Amino acid sequence: MMILFLILLSLFNVSLFHWLGQDPSFYRLDAYTWESVEFRGMRLGPAIAGLTEVDCERLSGFMLDHAFDLTEFETEADLSGPLETLDILDGRRLLLEQKSAAYKKLCHAYEIVFSDLKYFPIPASTRADTPPVTYEDGWQQKRTYGGERGHEGCDIMGMERERGFYPVISITDGVVEKLGWLEQGGWRAGIRSPSGLYLYYAHLFSYAEGLEEGKTVRAGELLGYMGDSGYGKQENTVGNFPVHLHLGLYLKTDHFEEMSVNPYWVLKYLEKRRLYFDY
Ligand SMILES: [Zn+2]
Repeated sequence: MMILFLILLSLFNVSLFHWLGQDPSFYRLDAYTWESVEFRGMRLGPAIAGLTEVDCERLSGFMLDHAFDLTEFETEADLSGPLETLDILDGRRLLLEQKSAAYKKLCHAYEIVFSDLKYFPIPASTRADTPPVTYEDGWQQKRTYGGERGHEGCDIMGMERERGFYPVISITDGVVEKLGWLEQGGWRAGIRSPSGLYLYYAHLFSYAEGLEEGKTVRAGELLGYMGDSGYGKQENTVGNFPVHLHLGLYLKTDHFEEMSVNPYWVLKYLEKRRLYFDY
């Protein structure tokens, strides 16, 4: 009887698979989807960049529906309407209901990433002659210092090369969890947001006055200045790469104390929220 049931179940799954189409992300939805390569890649695309606010439930459905890649969407139109209009086939909706615990977990993971974001980390300048900053998607690019590894963050490059020129502000409210020298990250600041996101600001030139571990910071508060510190056991090692801010985003998951996600599209989303500083 049990065997018959299993055969029927597998036949049902196979036919359901064909009926629903080729996209496998719904089938892989489980409690640990937020630890997947796809989730970590955060390929949110222009679809998310224009939004003023992110509906994480809607976003989760959309990401699943598009195999975690929205980069082909040119605008946010598909993500800005109410959730009820979300274009999910009935069968997929059924699967989402069956896997609601896993789905909620995925939504919650997006909430950790998005709910505290307020400002782009480099304020815009009030002066017309200040060179802008640039960045591109360098997620998992090869790095070799300290052994071969994938790049776990996004580098915001200062066009003005001078150390200490660009102010770095906190993207979120939070608490300073880590401060001080790291061999790879140089002078770094690690901020824990209220929702649990860990924001890692690395290679700083200097810290803002009074910044110390345990201190509460507000979004937009000065953390320090962009630099090129790091890649050396010796404190204050500088000059091993161009001046830039390395931003890393980390979540504590079921299996990882620190799991990185790609900040690139998160920064694109934040670009329209820039504070102005006089520098
Ligand atoms: Zn980097």
